[in-house]
This record gives sequence, C-alpha cells and structure tokens, in this order.
Amino acid sequence: MELLKEKILNQAKVVSDQILKVDSFINHMIDPNIMVEIGQEFASRFRDEKITKVLTIEASGIAIALTTALALKTPLLFAKKKIPSTLGQFYMSNIYSFTKNETVGICVAKEYLTSDDRVLIVDDFLARGEALKGLTDLVKQADAQLIGVGIVIEKMFQGGGKALRGAGVRIESLIKVSSLADGKINLEE
Ligand code: 5GP
Repeated sequence: MELLKEKILNQAKVVSDQILKVDSFINHMIDPNIMVEIGQEFASRFRDEKITKVLTIEASGIAIALTTALALKTPLLFAKKKIPSTLGQFYMSNIYSFTKNETVGICVAKEYLTSDDRVLIVDDFLARGEALKGLTDLVKQADAQLIGVGIVIEKMFQGGGKALRGAGVRIESLIKVSSLADGKINLEE
C-alpha cells in the first residue's frame, strides 16, 4: 500500500487533531488507481472467506466497495441515507456522525441482504465506530454473517476500532493513524 501511504503523507490535510481531509484522492476527487489497489488488498486479505456481499455506506464507501467487490467477484450493497419510496421493505439503523454533527438513518432493502450472506463491510474511515455499528446492526437484523471489516484509514486514537475488536469483529485497516496532533500525521507501523 505504498501509493496510498505516499498520498496520505503528501496530500492529506490535517483539519484538526481529530479530522483528516483526503478530498484530493478519496472523498471528493477519486484516484482510480488507488481505489483499485485498495480493492485488491482487501480482496487478498479476505479471499478465503467466501464473501458473498461487500457492504458499505453512501457516498464515500462506494468506490472502495466497488473495487473490492470486483476483486472478490461479489455484488456490492450500499446503505442509503435517504429512504427512497421505491425501496420496499428495508432494515434501518441510526448512526451519529461526529464530523457532520448529525444523526442519520441508514437502510438497505431486505431482499438484498439475507441470512445466506457472508458479509465484508468496507469504509473509508474508522473513528469512533458509529458508522460501523450501524452497518453491523443491519447485518444482524438480516441474520447475515459478518465476516470482517476493511477500513482504508483508521484513526487509532478515537476508540472505535478498539471497541469493535473487543466485541470480536475482525478489522483490517490499511493505514493506521496514531495521532493528528500539531498538524502532523503520525502513522503506526
Ligand atoms: P465513525 O462513525 O467511526 O466515528 O466515523 C466514520 C465515518 O465518519 C466515516 O464513514 C467517514 O465518512 C467519517 N469520518 C470520520 N473521521 C473522518 C475524518 O477524519 N475525515 C473524513 N473525511 N471523514 C471522517
């Protein structure tokens, strides 16, 4: 993941000691080469797990999930933040976003997440773990099996990863940020 690491060290902007901005290659403008590399890496880590569905949350997770699903030869399912009138029956969970300071409901159609599914969740950031809690809750409601989680950037100092690992969830993070203090990105080796 040298390309990803290099981009983070050279292009990511430290917004505060809590928030990192990666709008030039992940969250706004997207670097397809990095997305392909990320997808292949997640796929190689979960290759033997017979994943049947890659689950994420709109919007920033979709590109990551697409390359992962392509590499694992599975469909990708993204949780929606607005309930379309055409959705039919759905599972729903609430998540609080500290970056946006709001609670949103996320939902997936019942017909696309079932008890036969072996699910890999992927997302761009892991901070306090709220988004992941919401996504794992959807998996639970569907009685599907959560196999693991792939995260592009985990901020180790915000506690989400620790809590979820403590609950027995396998989390694979490609980049682990140990601190964003004093405007500097410190990575864990
Ligand atoms: P959590 O739910 O784990 O607290 O935060 C994860 C979600 O919040 C991610 O889906 C991501 O969209 C957003 N997020 C958390 N931290 C950051 C950050 O440092 N930068 C950006 N751009 N988004 C973040």
